[in-house]
Amino acid sequence: MSDCIFCKIIAGEIPASKVYEDDQVLAFLDISQVTPGHTLLVPKEHYRNLLEMDPNSASCLFAQAPVVAKKIMVATKASGMNIISNCEEVAGQTVFHTHVHLVPRYSADDDLKLDFIAHEPDFDKLAQVAETIKNA
Ligand code: AMP
Ligand code: ZN
Repeated sequence: MSDCIFCKIIAGEIPASKVYEDDQVLAFLDISQVTPGHTLLVPKEHYRNLLEMDPNSASCLFAQAPVVAKKIMVATKASGMNIISNCEEVAGQTVFHTHVHLVPRYSADDDLKLDFIAHEPDFDKLAQVAETIKNA
């Protein structure tokens, strides 16, 4: 897509700090570096986000996630990693070309806050929601 910043990176029209590349995917450092080594893994084909992808294109993308993630872990000597893909504005997506954030973690105090607010389990409700998703 001509006005997509990640398509421009893939086409070599704007620079990026590339860490991995093959026929299908590219991985490069996120300019914001939430933690040192924060990397984005993207498909070379343009999709708005994961919700637009089919199993084949998603397989090609995710097949390389552990490959790139392990290289980052070795290089940074991080203790763990968050692997996240934001889909749509409400979920925090700001660049509308599918990307997977690989965020190495060094400590629980790193600049990444994922606040999952846990609720008491309601098993009837769980069964109901599961049924709705199963049948969708
Ligand atoms: P998200 O908010 O999940 O859509 O993530 C988009 C990410 O793209 C942000 O973390 C930005 O820092 C990053 N980003 C935006 N422009 C560039 C760029 N030119 N090179 C590398 N990363 C970028
Ligand atoms: Zn694009």
